[in-house]
This record gives sequence, structure tokens and C-alpha cells, in this order.
Amino acid sequence: MTDRAPQPVDRQLPTEESRDLLALVREIAQREIRPRAAEEEDSGRFPREVFTLLSESGLLGLPYDGAFGGGDQPYEVYLQVLEELAAARLTVGLGVSVHSLACHGLAGYGSKEQQSAHLPAMLGGGLLGAYCLSEPAAGSDAASLTTKAVRDGEDWIITGTKAWITHGGVADFYTVLARTGAEGPKGITAFLVPGDAQGLSAAVPEKKMGMKGSPTAQLHFDGVRVPDSRRIGEEGQGFTIALAALDAGRLGIAACAIGVAQAALDEALSYARDRKQFGHPIADFQGLRFMLADMATKIEAGRALYLAAARLRDAGKPFARQAAMAKLFCTDAAMAVTTDAVQVLGGYGYTADFPVERLMREAKVLQIVEGTNQIQRMVIARHLAGPETR
Ligand SMILES: Cc1cc2nc3c(=O)[nH]c(=O)nc-3n(C[C@H](O)[C@H](O)[C@H](O)COP(=O)(O)OP(=O)(O)OC[C@H]3O[C@@H](n4cnc5c(N)ncnc54)[C@H](O)[C@@H]3O)c2cc1C
Repeated sequence: MTDRAPQPVDRQLPTEESRDLLALVREIAQREIRPRAAEEEDSGRFPREVFTLLSESGLLGLPYDGAFGGGDQPYEVYLQVLEELAAARLTVGLGVSVHSLACHGLAGYGSKEQQSAHLPAMLGGGLLGAYCLSEPAAGSDAASLTTKAVRDGEDWIITGTKAWITHGGVADFYTVLARTGAEGPKGITAFLVPGDAQGLSAAVPEKKMGMKGSPTAQLHFDGVRVPDSRRIGEEGQGFTIALAALDAGRLGIAACAIGVAQAALDEALSYARDRKQFGHPIADFQGLRFMLADMATKIEAGRALYLAAARLRDAGKPFARQAAMAKLFCTDAAMAVTTDAVQVLGGYGYTADFPVERLMREAKVLQIVEGTNQIQRMVIARHLAGPETR
């Protein structure tokens, strides 16, 4: 692996404050995150202390209201922070994105009392969140979820199993979507469940292809009792809350994908300048030069696409179609770029001596989470052509 830090990306940032913020993030990434990434991903160690440090540095609540402990940053800044974190280690970048997703419901739909009671600890008080929508039999068709919440006086009793939960078993709070009414999207309600709730337990984490430092686990809700004061939004509003969070979350995945792709390109460039064959650095050969040029172009195009969607969101305009496009394009780009980076390194690219094989394994998951790329295409097509009539 190359020890030198990658060149900073040439970024468009709106304020002096945001430029300082990105410099701080790069510093933390180079000092605390990047040097340990390979070893801890290999051993599957979750870097909980990094999230504590990020919280203490004001980096876990960036796009949220400063009145509740957030960072008051526009999405175009928050996403570039995510990109830098993911370039250092996807487990951290994606972890911050998932935490932000878990805060979205309460920040957007909670009452002022709920927000005052919970948000400061969630956004800047060291807590870590998780988002529980998927179930073993309800993945892409999330509206068919069956985890139940039944009213019992002033409380709700939640029973069922959630699947694939990032931070499952290590989170301090869970935003949980559960069925409180009829079948379909209108019978779903959102709840904020504390991590130490009685009856809540996590299975052994999944054995994954990559991102092994990020625990992904099933969560069992065995009669978990939560007061009605922890219901987010109205009864039956849960699916709307879940989808709104995912629109924003998809931009986070897009930014993480560009971070992973940029890290792979940086490694490929560094190697191609050093490695000699036929008496020349391999970076001299047109076959590789064109490949590197295509990789860089995909990254710049992806960054421009997620930033365009972010700026729509920051301006209060609809951005769901562009968010789906950004998620689709950036994650496909990351898969292509990381695969090409392995090719640039030749045999060494296929070994764990260099990070590109890990980056390739990590890129794959981004085409699956928060709506697979098939689902993104369905979302985009619905915006273009309206709902399917069959
Ligand atoms: C590492 C990891 C972390 C995750 N973290 C979380 C989390 O924190 N919270 C959470 O709630 N979920 C999480 N997920 C779940 C993730 O969102 C789901 O895996 C994803 O939505 C797909 O669901 P599924 O795995 O059940 O696949 P399925 O829905 O069974 O899909 C299987 C295949 O069929 C395709 N497909 C399905 N329906 C259609 C259709 N109508 N048209 C065309 N193709 C279709 C899919 O694209 C896919 O290729 C995580 C998953 C992973 C792997």
C-alpha cells in the first residue's frame, strides 16, 4: 500500500467555514481513519471510538438544525464530508450516512418536545443511530413489512424481525418502521427505540464480502415496549417518513461511492507512475492512460451529479429523481472504477497488499443498499413516465 496521502480533491465549497470544515475532516481522516482501515477491515473491528470522535468534532449532525445540536451545513457540504470519510474508510463514511438517515425522521417529523428531548444527544451527544426498514422477507418491497406495533394503553408493543441493519447491536437508538394498521404503505408507523430497550436483541452479524468492520445484523423485537411519546409523526405516516429519509440517504450513498472511487483512482495513479515495464512507467502506455482518463471522468461526472441534486435539496426544490440518478450513476461508477483500479495494478491489484481489491469489494455493496440500482431505475422511470399501469 502507498503511504503518501492522496492529493486533495479540487472542490467547489460555498463558504470559508465549509473550507475549514473539509480541511478538518481530511486531517481526521488521514490521522485517525485511513491508517487503520486495512487492518481493521481485515479483522472485522468496528471503530466505535472514531464515531465518538466525529461526534465530539461536530461531524455527526452536519446537515441538521444548529438549535438542536446540528451543524447547520447545506447538503452540498455535508456530502463532500461524507465523500472524504468514505475515501478513507467506507465503514466510517457509510456509518455517518446511516446515522444521519436514522436522525432524519425525528428531525423532519417529530414534535418540538420530541426534538428537544432527543435530538441534541443524537446529533452531537455521542450517540450512534441505525435505521430499521428491511426485513428477511421485505427488501425491495419494503412496504410489505410485517414487524408489528400494537397499542397497549399509552405504549406500543413491537414484535418482529428486522434484517440487514447497519450498526445492528451497536447502535444507541433505532428508527424503526412497524405495521400498526392495514397491509401496504399506509399501515406503517415510525418509532424511535432506545438501543437498550428490553426485548430487543441482535443476531450475530452477517459475514460479508466487504465492509467487514461495519456490523450488519438482524434485530429481534420480542415485545419491545415503547411509550407513545416515541412515535414519530402520525400513525400511518411511517412509510412517507421512511421514503423521505431514503431520498436524502441515497445522496449519502452516492457521495460515499465517489469517495471509494477516488481512493481507487489515487492508488492506481500512484502505482502506475512507479511501476516500470518495458523500460517505462506503465503510466506511459496509452492503454492505461485512457483507462485512467475514463476513471477520472466517471468520478468527476458522479461528483457533479450528486452535487447538483444536493443543491436542489438545499434550495428547497424537489430532488428525489436526481437523488435516485446520483445513487445509480455514482455507485455504478464506483464499481467500474474500482474494478479498473485492480486491473491497473495487475497481479498486485488482486492481493491484500494494496487497498484496491478491498475498495472493489466495498463498491459492490453500494449498488445494493438503500434501494438496489434496479429499484433506482424504477424510481427514475416513474418520475419520467408515471406509475406502471399493468
Ligand atoms: C451491508 C448492508 C447494509 C444494509 N443496511 C441496511 C440498514 O441499515 N437498514 C435497512 O433497513 N436495510 C439495510 N440493508 C438492506 C438493503 O436495503 C436491502 O438489501 C436492499 O433493499 C435489497 O433488498 P433484498 O436484499 O431483500 O433484495 P431483494 O429485494 O430480494 O432483491 C433481489 C434482487 O431482485 C431485484 N429486484 C427486486 N424487485 C425488483 C423489481 N421490481 N424489478 C427489478 N428487479 C427487482 C433486486 O434489484 C435484486 O437484484 C442493508 C443491506 C446490506 C447488504
